[in-house]
Amino acid sequence: MARDTLRRCSVCGGHHWISEWPHNHVEAEPQRSSLPAPMVIADTIDAVRSMADGKEYTSKAALRATYKPSGNPDGISYVEVGNERPTGIVKPKVDEKAIQTSLQKALARYERGERVSQ
Ligand SMILES: [Zn+2]
Repeated sequence: MARDTLRRCSVCGGHHWISEWPHNHVEAEPQRSSLPAPMVIADTIDAVRSMADGKEYTSKAALRATYKPSGNPDGISYVEVGNERPTGIVKPKVDEKAIQTSLQKALARYERGERVSQ
């Protein structure tokens, strides 16, 4: 009989004998192809018109080059937007005076016996 080994379990952090390994503490195999290869992020994209020079590009690198001063006819530096994370929630400014005015008008209508609607 083969010698049993105590091994650290990455699922519970404890130790188990290999012969008595709990079936529910088996780590799931990462889903990988049988043909391992590095993930490749291609430079190719569907044709996109650069707002910097008006031309269409199918290369991310070429498109982004037009955002640099050296890459567009205006010589301006542009910033690509749309994929940034929001930095915070902008709360609308509370107009206390407008609220009071609106309440006073509603109260006046109510006191005159008019129906108050929104
Ligand atoms: Zn375990």
